[in-house]
Amino acid sequence: MALIVQKFGGTSVGSIERIRAVAERVQTRHRAGNGVVVVVSAMSGETDRLLQMAKAISSQPNPRELDALLSTGEQVTIALLGMALHSVGQEAISFTGAQVPIETDSAHTKARIERIEGGRIRQALETGKVVIVAGFQGITAEGDITTLGRGGSDTTAVALAAALGADECEIYTDVDGIYTTDPRVEPRARRLDRITFEEMLEMASLGAKVLQTRSVEFAMNYHVPVRVLSSFAEGPGTLVTNEENAMEAPRVSGIAFSRNEAKITVVAVPDRPGIAHAILGPISAANINVDVILQNVSEEGKTDFTFTVERNDFGRAMAILGDVARHLGAQDVLGDTEIVKVSAVGVGMRSHAGIAATMFEALARENINIQMISTSEIKISVVIAEKYLELAVRTLHRAFGLEQGAST
Ligand code: ASP
Ligand code: MG
Repeated sequence: MALIVQKFGGTSVGSIERIRAVAERVQTRHRAGNGVVVVVSAMSGETDRLLQMAKAISSQPNPRELDALLSTGEQVTIALLGMALHSVGQEAISFTGAQVPIETDSAHTKARIERIEGGRIRQALETGKVVIVAGFQGITAEGDITTLGRGGSDTTAVALAAALGADECEIYTDVDGIYTTDPRVEPRARRLDRITFEEMLEMASLGAKVLQTRSVEFAMNYHVPVRVLSSFAEGPGTLVTNEENAMEAPRVSGIAFSRNEAKITVVAVPDRPGIAHAILGPISAANINVDVILQNVSEEGKTDFTFTVERNDFGRAMAILGDVARHLGAQDVLGDTEIVKVSAVGVGMRSHAGIAATMFEALARENINIQMISTSEIKISVVIAEKYLELAVRTLHRAFGLEQGAST
């Protein structure tokens, strides 16, 4: 008997009819002889609605109370799905995170799962029941309810699959898999049959929001095969898996992009040891993530120091740098929020030369100016003006032969 964890997102359980459809789908799987654990999100829009109510009372709601509130969304769906399964004659039992229990640290609103006690779930499975678990929530050692950050139901599902030794974790969502790029930008984007955990991690952290980044890290660390599927259409979806299983990796698997970027340049600072630390130390102390960093060649003992931050941290970063720049005797601090980052991602880069050249040549042909470049083993990113985003994505998608029907 195979053990499958199935996770259904907010749109998949967005109405009573859809909850009934999920129940049927789950029952079919169970009748085929599988053990089934179902993780569900709150009905679509519900977490936002709860959050808005909290914000209407306080601009900074107490995190412990906020978690108690936000966790109610998933508690509603597990109970309704349980009833829907009963009504079609399927034995089933639902558990909140606390009932499992899924133990987390006490970082309210972004808690990390520390341990899952699987005994109660295993017992229920042994008696032939479908087990339904509330996504996105857990409980601290002290008995307080926590949540795992937005999109956290994915992480619940993967963590349960790891803890129970499930054969596969299926993530049902409103798209039918992972695409070579965002189809809203490039309509000729293609569904991938497979993608590696590492590639998925890069795509997810670059804004492809199909899976919560943390769930991918979890799946990678615990070797849980994850399949992303549509809950509205039949199809094989995309398997997220280890690199060994990804036969004949293409050079580039996808083009990812992020609009959530801003660029800051500290102009003409002295070129001496300690400057990077003097500039970026206060930024990191303020919990602002720095991404791409560029330091120019020194001219007459002065250098320009440029880096990117998330766009919503831009104002704070500029305020911090005002003081720092004065202290360092810098000439100026320049900011630009109309930039984006576009990346080619692929584990195939490890064994193929010339990926960067292809990328730069394609952008040059379209006259797109590259402002910054950064590379890792499986990714090349460029920072460009935001107005070129669509053109750059389509150009690179074509340059790497990713479109539907292209021979790779
Ligand atoms: N309901 C939560 C959210 O909207 C968790 C999830 O859906 O994964 O973020
Ligand atoms: Mg989600």
